[in-house]
Amino acid sequence: MNIIAIVGRPNVGKSTLFNRMVGGKEAIVENTPGVTRDRIYGESDWNGKQFTLIDTGGFVPGSENTIEKAVREQAFIAIEEANVILFICDGRDGVTPFDEDIAKLLRPSNKPVVLIINKCDNESQDNNSFEFHKLGLGEPYPISSLNDRNTGDFLDKAVSYLESLDKTESDPRLKIAIVGKPNVGKSSISNVLTGKNRSIVTDIPGTTRDAIDSVIKYYGEEIVLIDTAGLRRRAMIKENIEIFSMIRTNKAIERCDIAAVVIDATLGLQDQDKKILNFVEENRKGILLVVNKWDLVEKDEKTADELAKKFLESIPTLDYIPIVFVSALTKQRVTKIIEYCKTIKKEREKRISTSKLNKILLPELEKTPPPAVQGKDLRINYITQVNTEPPVFAFFCNHPDLIPTSYKRFIERNLRRQFGYKGTPVSFVFKRKNVGWEDREES
Ligand code: GDP
Ligand code: GDP
Repeated sequence: MNIIAIVGRPNVGKSTLFNRMVGGKEAIVENTPGVTRDRIYGESDWNGKQFTLIDTGGFVPGSENTIEKAVREQAFIAIEEANVILFICDGRDGVTPFDEDIAKLLRPSNKPVVLIINKCDNESQDNNSFEFHKLGLGEPYPISSLNDRNTGDFLDKAVSYLESLDKTESDPRLKIAIVGKPNVGKSSISNVLTGKNRSIVTDIPGTTRDAIDSVIKYYGEEIVLIDTAGLRRRAMIKENIEIFSMIRTNKAIERCDIAAVVIDATLGLQDQDKKILNFVEENRKGILLVVNKWDLVEKDEKTADELAKKFLESIPTLDYIPIVFVSALTKQRVTKIIEYCKTIKKEREKRISTSKLNKILLPELEKTPPPAVQGKDLRINYITQVNTEPPVFAFFCNHPDLIPTSYKRFIERNLRRQFGYKGTPVSFVFKRKNVGWEDREES
C-alpha cells in the first residue's frame, strides 16, 4: 500500500488539494458531528501509480491552543506511516514560524518530502515560492489547488518515490487481521491467541512499527495474525489517535485474507464499527464480527441470538457475516475466531461449476425475472463463476447496464441461499450475452 500524506498548518489549502486529487466522488462529507469534516482518506493515481492519499489535517481539534500540537503530531504520523509527504504552505503568507516548526520535524526524517506552495493562482505569484527554499526541503513547487494550476509537476515528483505495487504476494498461509476501534480488546485477543503479551508501546516518534505480524500454530497449521498494536497508549490528541488507528487498520485490512472486526459487547455496533466493516467489504476481504467482553453482558441462552439478529438488521447489506461472542478476559471461545476464519477462507476459495450454477440458480432467477426497465424485458441467460478469493460471478444477459440494484440483491440472496459463501463478499459482473466478444460490457 502506497501512502501519500498531506501535512501543513490550517487554512493553507490541504483539503482543497485533497479533494482535487481524489476527485469529487471520494470527497464525501460524512455527517458525524465533530469527527470528520470531509473524508480524509481517498484513492488516487498518477502516471499509472496508485496511492492512498491522506489529509492528516482532516481532523482538526476544536481549541486553538491544541492546533499546533495537533499539526506537529500529524507530521509524526506522516513520517511514520506515509511513503511520501506533501508539505503544503501558503504562498501568500510567506514562510511562517509555524512552517519552520513543521520543516524542522520533517527534515531529519528520511521520508521523501515534496514542498508545495499553494495559492500561487497566477504566474506572477509563483515568485512567492522562492523564499521557501530556506526551509531546506528542496525545490518548492508553486501551485494553485483552487485553479488546478501546476499540479502535474509536483505529482510527477511525488509518485517517483512510490513503488509499483506488486499484488502477486503469494503467501499461502491464512492471514487474519484483528481490527476494530481502540479499547475493544484487540490486543487482549491477540495475546490470548499467541499466548504472549506483545503490545509494543512507545512514546518516541519514529520508533513504532507497522502492523506487527505474528505467526501462530493452529493444529500444525501456520496462521499469520496481523494486528495494529503499538500505538494506542501513546499520549496523543484524540483526533490524531483516530487518524493513526484508521491508517493502521486500513493497512492491516489490505494485507489480510479475513478481517476479524472486534467490537465491545457493552457498546454494541456503533457507527465507527460499521465504517470498519464497510471498509473490509470494499476491499472484498472475508469478514468476521467478533463481539468481545461477553463476560460483561448479563445474559440468558437467547441473548446471543437476539443480539446477532439485531446487529445484522442494522447492517442489511452485510447480513452474510458470521458473528462470534467471545471474552478475551475469560478466554471463552477466543480460538473459535480461528475456526471461523478458516471456514470463511474455504468459502472464499470455493468454486461452483458452471453447470451447477445454471441448473440451480438460473431457474430461480427465471421464476422471478428482473422487472422491465425502460420498456425492455431483461433476461439473464447464463451464469459462470469467473474468480475465487473473492468469488466473482458473471451473468450474461441482454441489457447488462439495466439490471437494477434491487435485483442484484435478490440474486445475491438466492446465490447465498443455494451456495453459502458465508463471511465473504461476492461480486457480480453483468455482460452482454454471447453475441460476440466486442459486444461485451461490464457493469
Ligand atoms: P486546510 O485547512 O489546509 O484544509 O485549507 P482549505 O482547503 O480548507 O482551504 C482554506 C482556504 O483557502 C479556503 O477558503 C480555500 O478556498 C482557500 N484556498 C485553497 N486553495 C487555494 C488556492 O489555490 N488559491 C486560493 N486563492 N485560495 C485557496
Ligand atoms: P485494544 O485497544 O482494542 O487493543 O484493547 P485492549 O486489548 O487494550 O483492551 C482494552 C481494555 O479492555 C483493557 O482494559 C482490557 O483489559 C479490557 N478487556 C479486553 N478484553 C476484555 C474482555 O473480554 N472482558 C473484559 N471485561 N475486559 C476486556
